[in-house]
Amino acid sequence: MFTIPTLPKILLIVLVIAVVWWWHRRNQIKKREQAELERNPRNRAKSKPANPIEDMTQCKVCGAYVPASGAKNCGRPNCPF
Ligand SMILES: [Zn+2]
Repeated sequence: MFTIPTLPKILLIVLVIAVVWWWHRRNQIKKREQAELERNPRNRAKSKPANPIEDMTQCKVCGAYVPASGAKNCGRPNCPF
């Protein structure tokens, strides 16, 4: 026998639909945020260190490690820098 849904039943159905809709929206927002994060190069650059580690070269005479760009003479007469 067909029974007319009572008010609590209707409310329950509406609540279930609302929860499903809310969950769907939440997933969509999460997906969009993730896509924007991957698309935006500025956000990607944030994960990288501001200054890349410089190549170091060792002075054969004094044995000191100096950055390859901006090497200074250590003062010894036969220093290559
Ligand atoms: Zn040197």
